[in-house]
Amino acid sequence: MEFQELQSILNKKAKVVIVTHKNPDGDAMGSSLGLAGILKKKGCDVAVVAPTEYPAFLNWIKGNKEVLVWGRNNKLIKKFIQEADVLFCLDFNALHRIDEVGELISESNGKKVMIDHHQQPDDFVDYMMSDTSASSTAEMVYEFIEKLGDKNLIDGGIGEALYCGIMTDTGSFRFPSTTSKTHAIVGKIIEKGADHSMVHRRIYDSNTQRRLKLLGYCLMNMEVLDRYKVAIIKISKEDHKNYNIQKGDTEGIVNYGLSMSHIQCSAFFREDGDIVKISFRSKDDYDVNEFARKYFNGGGHINAAGGMSNDSLEITIDKFKKIIVSQND
Ligand code: 5GP
Ligand code: MN
Repeated sequence: MEFQELQSILNKKAKVVIVTHKNPDGDAMGSSLGLAGILKKKGCDVAVVAPTEYPAFLNWIKGNKEVLVWGRNNKLIKKFIQEADVLFCLDFNALHRIDEVGELISESNGKKVMIDHHQQPDDFVDYMMSDTSASSTAEMVYEFIEKLGDKNLIDGGIGEALYCGIMTDTGSFRFPSTTSKTHAIVGKIIEKGADHSMVHRRIYDSNTQRRLKLLGYCLMNMEVLDRYKVAIIKISKEDHKNYNIQKGDTEGIVNYGLSMSHIQCSAFFREDGDIVKISFRSKDDYDVNEFARKYFNGGGHINAAGGMSNDSLEITIDKFKKIIVSQND
């Protein structure tokens, strides 16, 4: 499908569904609600779908109350997806990653559009915007809005949604993916009335004492393999109970490993039901996307990726260490 065809469908008050990835983060919710805000202003009938619940520190974004969550709003989600003229997939690039919602999308006759910045996209869409060099999906959504010729529709609320996506995915404008274009876009968003300082407070000043204690506990127990420039942080099922861990509580903890100057890779292992969920972060050309794909059924970006394991926490961490040692010796 050519861009002009998509543009003309969207100009005719289309029925639109915007879907993002599981465990939505700031970029997932920010890009989705930002795009939703624009399409609503164009007269489209828009539903935003999250395949799982998302953390409370994201529940302030304009349009948040209308988000449909799989598990709570299944009937409505099925109906919207079946009837959609256009389905946007934002901040992910493979339908299998969103389970049942992905199946519904593949069965829908609506035109499928991907806007994403992760590596190695699956080709399941009619129109693809995939740019692995982009700082965030929210930055790409800004460019998509510009391409539609609808920049004038951006207001403070929509700007704050996009700002949230760009800010969180760039680690507050510090990752190398942050470019002069990123800053230029953010500048234009602020001109539209976005309150950047408020966004920062909502996202980063959202700690509870319980979460700070959890962070302290994780850092106390962090293992550092100095020789291999690797840090390991872990959370077991018992820790989950002891710290009454809520959605979003563990977000960002992995980054503390990288804050040591000599560490090149930080790995965070979290027991989650029967599986172990893993987050990897790295510096420079240490490619954790390839690493996660090869060893832990995952993927992501070069410097931020995730994966999982069906083994126990201890066995998974053991396996990780053996791989690290074997790669270096
Ligand atoms: P996080 O560690 O914040 O969960 O994820 C970091 C990055 O890796 C995100 O961009 C996310 O999309 C990606 N990612 C996390 N888990 C997985 C996974 O299991 N498979 C794939 N392909 N990517 C993942
Ligand atoms: Mn993203």
